[in-house]
Amino acid sequence: MELKDGKFYLTGGVDPLEIAEQYGLPVYIYDSAIIKKQIDRFNNAFSVKKMKLNYACKALTNINILKLMKKWGMGLDAVSIQEVRLGLHAGFKPKEILYTPNCVSLEELSLAVELGVKINIDNLSILEQFGDHYPNYPLCIRLNPHVMAGGNSKISTGHIDSKFGISIHQLPHVHRIIETYGLNIEGLHMHTGSEILDTEVYLRVADILLNTAKDFKDLQFIDFGSGFKVSYKNDGIETDMEDLGEQLSTKFNEFCKDYGRSLTLIFEPGKFLVSESGYFLTKVNVVKQTTSNVFAGVDSGLNHLIRPMFYNAYHNITNISKAEGRKRIYTVVGYICETDTFGVNRKMTEISEGDVLCFHNAGAYCYMMSSNYNSRYRPAEVLVHEGKHHLIRERETMDDILKGQISVL
Ligand SMILES: *Cc1c(COP(=O)(O)O)cnc(C)c1O
Repeated sequence: MELKDGKFYLTGGVDPLEIAEQYGLPVYIYDSAIIKKQIDRFNNAFSVKKMKLNYACKALTNINILKLMKKWGMGLDAVSIQEVRLGLHAGFKPKEILYTPNCVSLEELSLAVELGVKINIDNLSILEQFGDHYPNYPLCIRLNPHVMAGGNSKISTGHIDSKFGISIHQLPHVHRIIETYGLNIEGLHMHTGSEILDTEVYLRVADILLNTAKDFKDLQFIDFGSGFKVSYKNDGIETDMEDLGEQLSTKFNEFCKDYGRSLTLIFEPGKFLVSESGYFLTKVNVVKQTTSNVFAGVDSGLNHLIRPMFYNAYHNITNISKAEGRKRIYTVVGYICETDTFGVNRKMTEISEGDVLCFHNAGAYCYMMSSNYNSRYRPAEVLVHEGKHHLIRERETMDDILKGQISVL
């Protein structure tokens, strides 16, 4: 969001308060130009012969976002069969989708085989069962390098107690299964967690994966997953993509030379592509002065944005109704009957009841984790694209709350 002449604007001069006026509050807004900027930044950071970005769509699956991703050359990383179907619905070809489930049944994997998508296997039991049923279907294998990384234990996946991936210590067993069933392993994959800040950690994981890859002779691609940190606090603390791109490209190019062929370098960013593009607008219902605090109570809660309560995520909050003026300290809370604190001691321009507060970095894992808790409606979603705004999901109504319920009394 840009501040100009005392007002905030989205890309193309779109006024967020006009969106609030037209579609009501609370509302999620996605600014497509920011997604495009992040894609370009990612691609430009690397210099290898073949590279593909698979958008990790669990971050944000609105069909319009998926269509834009397709248009901008992305593949798709899907973690459920429903995400696979959404991807196909949005126009991705089966081979552009890598399905990376965790702890799903062979039945769900059979559906993926029927749909013809690429499949990533993350445990030995399923690898063996899969080999028994579909020995000719090419596979990717998800490995766990046991490198501790990531911003929070709930989103770190590489540690020794993690449920994700096949341990690199089990590689002899992996090879035993591959040889016995004659499996075609077309890809190797790692995803060590979210919010890895340190380039060194990423490069260490890369070394392990590339070293392992030497023993697989039929590879087409190597997938380094994601885990890139974006700046939440406006402090610029984020993954240094340019530095990482340069160093990892060198490593990868050397590997391909030794391997004898150019493989495709794959990443599957979610947060990095969409986090910053998203804004969540809410209205202040009540300013409540207590003995120790000033609360700004908004028309939303953990039902719409759970990240602060779920894993202490920090979201910048600004009062976009008053771009300039005297600042005061607020604790921003929701309306849910549960403690749902969005932020404490936030310095903002003085809030009046009715002002619109904007939560930044609301593109990834925000709408997607929303619920009907307290039987409230999920918000609307709006896309800002090429200077215009479009409603891309209606606010829910009482019909949605009652949908599927069967009254037997
Ligand atoms: C969630 C996930 C991602 C995306 O992670 P971000 O931190 O959002 O970039 C990528 N790959 C897999 C397998 C995932 O589960």
